Amino acid sequence: MNMPESRNALQREQVPVSHFDVLIVGAGISGIDTAYHLRQQCPEKSFALLESQESFGGTWLTHKFPGIRSDSDLFTFGFKWKPWTGVPIATAEEILNYLGEAIEEQQISEHIHYRHQVKSASWSGDDNQWTLEVVCNDGEQQRFTCNFLWMCQGYYQHSEGYTPDFPGIERFTGRIVHPQTWPDDLDYKNKRVIVIGSGATAATIVPAMAGDCEHVTMLQRSPTYFYARPKNDEVIDLLRKLDIPKEWIHEIARRKVLHDQFETTRRSFEEPESLQNELLGAARAYLGDDFDIKKHFTPNYRVWRQRLAVIPDGDLYKCIRSGKASVVTDQIDSFTENGIALKSGETLDADIIVTATGFNMSAMGGIPFSVDGQHVDFSKCWGHRGILFSGVPNMAWVFGYLRTSWTMRADLVSVFVCRLLKHLEEKGASVVTPQLREEDKDMSARPFIESENFNAGYVMRKIHLMPKQGDREPWVFSQDYFQERDTIPAADLEDGTLIYR
Ligand SMILES: Cc1cc2nc3c(=O)[nH]c(=O)nc-3n(C[C@H](O)[C@H](O)[C@H](O)COP(=O)(O)OP(=O)(O)OC[C@H]3O[C@@H](n4cnc5c(N)ncnc54)[C@H](O)[C@@H]3O)c2cc1C
Repeated sequence: MNMPESRNALQREQVPVSHFDVLIVGAGISGIDTAYHLRQQCPEKSFALLESQESFGGTWLTHKFPGIRSDSDLFTFGFKWKPWTGVPIATAEEILNYLGEAIEEQQISEHIHYRHQVKSASWSGDDNQWTLEVVCNDGEQQRFTCNFLWMCQGYYQHSEGYTPDFPGIERFTGRIVHPQTWPDDLDYKNKRVIVIGSGATAATIVPAMAGDCEHVTMLQRSPTYFYARPKNDEVIDLLRKLDIPKEWIHEIARRKVLHDQFETTRRSFEEPESLQNELLGAARAYLGDDFDIKKHFTPNYRVWRQRLAVIPDGDLYKCIRSGKASVVTDQIDSFTENGIALKSGETLDADIIVTATGFNMSAMGGIPFSVDGQHVDFSKCWGHRGILFSGVPNMAWVFGYLRTSWTMRADLVSVFVCRLLKHLEEKGASVVTPQLREEDKDMSARPFIESENFNAGYVMRKIHLMPKQGDREPWVFSQDYFQERDTIPAADLEDGTLIYR
């Protein structure tokens, strides 16, 4: 060994090490929900949350674009165990306040290590534990070990959003901004703005900026379905007036939302045309008969095959109707010095271009994983209910729902994993690894999320990096809450797919 190598080895040995029974990566809504369930159901387990940012909240801390809000209701996006008392659709600030209260009330805050970024995770079968190399406070190395690793790092890279390779992008002399890295100093008062995209983010940004800009143009390649719904819920408002306990109202609201979602999902498969007519009818009512609804608001996919973006009180339609914003459906030919040249031959001038073009989905946050020295390629692993992964011991990932609120699945996963941890103890085992049974070995592989089911661009772009799913339980991940609410709690932990040691 030469001198620098031996010095490196010495430095590695000197890195401080902390051990916990369970390590949770991420202090977003999933990490907080996980910590709650772990404290409730496995109170004897020591645990810590490692969070790379300076505070909790994940998505709601990272995103700072104008108008940032949920597009799910907070009765189901919030926790089952903490009543939501505001209007159904909440701003990022309201969500962060709610999460902050939850952390304090449940004594979770003392378990969170902020500014701790996990750089790698390696499993050793000799020690039956994970070792996480962590960089904290911008440079200091630390090592954490644990028996069970619970990945709550979300499903996309927080560092940078996705921007397609637009031809000539470098020629534009104005400012280009991605919603995921919104600059504090962006002054858009009286400026001409183009927002590229028409997903939930664009639908939030356009009305939020419209009042201040000279004009906002939402430029889309193809239309999206929007669900214009009232900001308030009459039933919930009535229950609140009747002075009914907030815990009851929360539960009633959750059931109502789930019932409505079930109906919408059912209709999207069984009567897609009538559902489509309803959504487009609302667009027509807001935008008027002269507006070209067919061109700008009639998508070419089945409703619900992509997330149905909520527009509270029809705010997007209202600002288009008022003339403060407009929508252009065309394709980008290239960026120019002054804006964008379109394939139709038209040009759009702008001072600012906002690329609401989505995010970079990733498996396990792109953290390199190894098991006994072998690199783990998650695209080669089979998802076990989309929670555990074949060949990867003592590790779970929270990947929530894309149509129902994300947190509904975080809850199901938490209960399942806590049950698994208790089962390990009852058996006197310390390791559980998912493995295909003999009869599973001929299974045909399907994508983690099937495009027939859900085909949003951000999913399709990175689906090749995601684990596989099979064609039978427990190797399937249906993305269907109404199915999983029965199958996950009833999961047989001794069906031969979980190998205990
Ligand atoms: C703009 C936007 C709006 C959305 N709105 C909704 C909605 O209304 N309803 C809905 O159901 N879903 C919505 N989603 C999806 C949303 O991401 C999830 O619902 C939810 O917030 C995910 O929570 P999470 O805790 O799993 O992950 P995240 O919120 O992504 O949090 C993950 C945390 O892990 C941390 N982390 C990541 N990597 C590391 C590492 N290597 N080391 C340490 N820490 C790490 C991150 O810093 C972050 O704090 C939205 C997504 C976006 C981008």
